[in-house]
Amino acid sequence: MPDFSEVFVASTARALNSAGVPCVLWGHCLLNVHGVPSIIGSIDFVIPDHLLAAGAAVLARQPHLALCPDDQLCLTSSTERYTPGPAFHAHMEDSEMPVTLYLQSETLWFLPPLDRTLCQKPARLPRYFIMASDRTVLQPWRPGRGSGVFKYASDPVIVPTAPVLLEAFLRLYARDEGKRVGGFGMAMIAYMEEYVDDDGNLDASQLPEPLRTFYRDLREGRKPVRQWTTELKAALGVGESGDAIAPSKGRGSATKPAEKAAA
Ligand SMILES: [Zn+2]
Repeated sequence: MPDFSEVFVASTARALNSAGVPCVLWGHCLLNVHGVPSIIGSIDFVIPDHLLAAGAAVLARQPHLALCPDDQLCLTSSTERYTPGPAFHAHMEDSEMPVTLYLQSETLWFLPPLDRTLCQKPARLPRYFIMASDRTVLQPWRPGRGSGVFKYASDPVIVPTAPVLLEAFLRLYARDEGKRVGGFGMAMIAYMEEYVDDDGNLDASQLPEPLRTFYRDLREGRKPVRQWTTELKAALGVGESGDAIAPSKGRGSATKPAEKAAA
């Protein structure tokens, strides 16, 4: 039987942390933790860019994981996929389920750099992260709402809060709209709205501006989506190509909004 369980997720996080590679849960598992029902098609983590080689070496050493037999043919690394792909992946030996590493610069670039203090079961997390086992914030399993909160806290698994995850999807949509993977961000925004916000588990007032206003406008249908998209890209300094045209508002410098969101 393939093991998609939280025990496997936690043991992979522990292995990364033991090697000094901080990691944050991403992808299907993360959606499930926040109550978005999503079939687990891969197990995904975000790590710092400069630790990609170290993270890849950890996965390569894991029992029950095998290196991808053919990066050219594998759907996980395919340029034809409709969602942003990982920087590295391995496969579970029995199920071929991918276990992947995404770069922070491609996913959570607007947060401060993930640092090694996150590897040591920190007493206090930055306010934009919570433990996947935090029952004070995350909901238990509910019908039709994913796996919910992790049951065990022995190996801490770090996840972004719901507002930070929504912020990531808004920024990813602005970055990728018009590309092959452009539909992903909007689909994820819709899932967060339907399964997390509508259930009362997302405090959208924690979004930094201008994203708070853009999210409200989208949710209330105040503008045609085409116009909304153009204005969102302009507000975030993203050109039609998806490249940042105003670095001061884009990649790597938006730590203040994230902190404001958490405040
Ligand atoms: Zn592969």
